[in-house]
Amino acid sequence: MQACAVTGFELEGDQLRGVMTDRYGVIRAGRVGCVVAGNSGVLAGYGGFELPIESHPLQALVSEPIKPILNTVVMSNQVHGYVSQSDKGDLVIGAGIDSYTGYGQRGSMPVIEHTLAAMIELFPMFSRVPMNRQWGGIVDTTPDACPIIGKTPVENLYFNCGWGTGGFKATPGSGHVFADCLASDEIPVLAKPFALDRFYSGALIDEHGAAGVAH
Ligand SMILES: Cc1cc2nc3c(=O)[nH]c(=O)nc-3n(C[C@H](O)[C@H](O)[C@H](O)COP(=O)(O)OP(=O)(O)OC[C@H]3O[C@@H](n4cnc5c(N)ncnc54)[C@H](O)[C@@H]3O)c2cc1C
Repeated sequence: MQACAVTGFELEGDQLRGVMTDRYGVIRAGRVGCVVAGNSGVLAGYGGFELPIESHPLQALVSEPIKPILNTVVMSNQVHGYVSQSDKGDLVIGAGIDSYTGYGQRGSMPVIEHTLAAMIELFPMFSRVPMNRQWGGIVDTTPDACPIIGKTPVENLYFNCGWGTGGFKATPGSGHVFADCLASDEIPVLAKPFALDRFYSGALIDEHGAAGVAH
């Protein structure tokens, strides 16, 4: 259902019975899976528990279209920025997250300045390209920079979150294992290391550098 927000959970003790929505009232469900990225902490709050997640703005910038100049993605961890050119000719530029937490989908000026300084260091000629637009999305980061997939302290409630700045590329794989969790009520082998309880047991996942990006 498009444009329909979950505003709470219907709970019986520590069991979930359904979700409350702003358009269709309560929708009952045997199992519920949450895939709300930057809003995961808010939904965990509806369930009465906390997630070890911080939500940060991450920005992107798009320039005016220019003639073809880049035929690949260029990424630099030295100056921290990345850029590619769309088929329309826009330069699509990104860099790091805002250091503070927040839900404002804007991003802060120091990060824009840093990002553009990095771009100009890589490509001095880009200093004369006007930017068309800029926006921020909210990314859900965990202490070991890996996602959380699986059960929660509330029975019948599952979360797939914590993908941070790298969730696009994982979407098909994470979708498959998460669908399996919900359909079978069993955690597939692939998803087991990503359980929420690793933050209690200390069995964290040491793959912070795996994506090859600096954030
Ligand atoms: C600027 C930027 C650049 C990025 N670049 C990359 C990249 O290059 N490579 C990469 O792999 N990843 C990148 N990411 C990260 C990637 O976008 C995310 O990890 C990914 O989109 C997360 O997918 P998701 O399905 O978990 O959540 P999302 O795609 O964020 O979807 C969550 C959905 O939940 C909905 N929702 C939230 N709250 C509620 C509620 N209460 N009720 C109902 N619905 C709700 C939202 O409206 C949204 O539609 C980038 C992110 C940003 C912001």
